[in-house]
Amino acid sequence: MPELPEVETIVRAVRPRLFGRTIVAFDSRWPKNVEPGLSAVRRAVVGRRVAAVARRGKYVVLGFDDGAALLVHLRMSGRLEWAADHAPEPPHVRATWDLDDGGRLLLCDARKFGRVMHTRDLAAATADLGPEPLARGFTPDVLGGLLRARRRQLKPLLLDQRVIAGLGNIYTDEALHRAGLHPLTPSDRLRAADVARLHAAIRAVLREAIRCHGTSLDWIYPGGWMQRRLRVYGRTGEPCRTCGTPIVGLRVGQRGTHVCPRCQPRRR
Ligand SMILES: [Zn+2]
Repeated sequence: MPELPEVETIVRAVRPRLFGRTIVAFDSRWPKNVEPGLSAVRRAVVGRRVAAVARRGKYVVLGFDDGAALLVHLRMSGRLEWAADHAPEPPHVRATWDLDDGGRLLLCDARKFGRVMHTRDLAAATADLGPEPLARGFTPDVLGGLLRARRRQLKPLLLDQRVIAGLGNIYTDEALHRAGLHPLTPSDRLRAADVARLHAAIRAVLREAIRCHGTSLDWIYPGGWMQRRLRVYGRTGEPCRTCGTPIVGLRVGQRGTHVCPRCQPRRR
């Protein structure tokens, strides 16, 4: 599933051709995932100029000149790409945006979980999302407050989009390894130094992944090279890049989780 770095990469890739353009047509071949419905969204966005192309958590946000916005969530396998002139359409096109310069943006999604949602109140539509981990205001104190306010195991807490927006399975495992914290550590047991390390690790791994254009482990999200730098995710049985101990796979809240038992000892 695309996480913050992959969505950020997609936003940066589509922004130059999309920003300032007017939408002349919108269509969906999987209208079930268009909210509040295909004809309502079409009425709302056709004729509107794209005034912002941004990311919030794992959402792509297209802001319009009337203050409304479209939120696109890529979910498991969605991606945005441009239709190529004189080339066959790629497979699994679910939605299309035609622009006034002849460009055509495509939402391609093999597994059909991707969603397109129109809102007139972006703040309300994203009110449930936690802070952006790369925002200036996301300080170690803010993270410490979020962790102390909840008594949950670290990994499920960090995956919860209401707590921090944008982290998924890959970057949570990577951040916990870099911080030397076991994923099952209770969130209210961290010392100030642990919180500071976790805060630095979350930001460092996300920034590195954005520089690498994200992680491409399969055909679903192509073009990134962060997979070459992952320290634990997907490396069960392989030696830890820090200490050489074989990486162990566990299940934490239904999610495959990757841990170095030496770098991330479980505290009792
Ligand atoms: Zn290790």
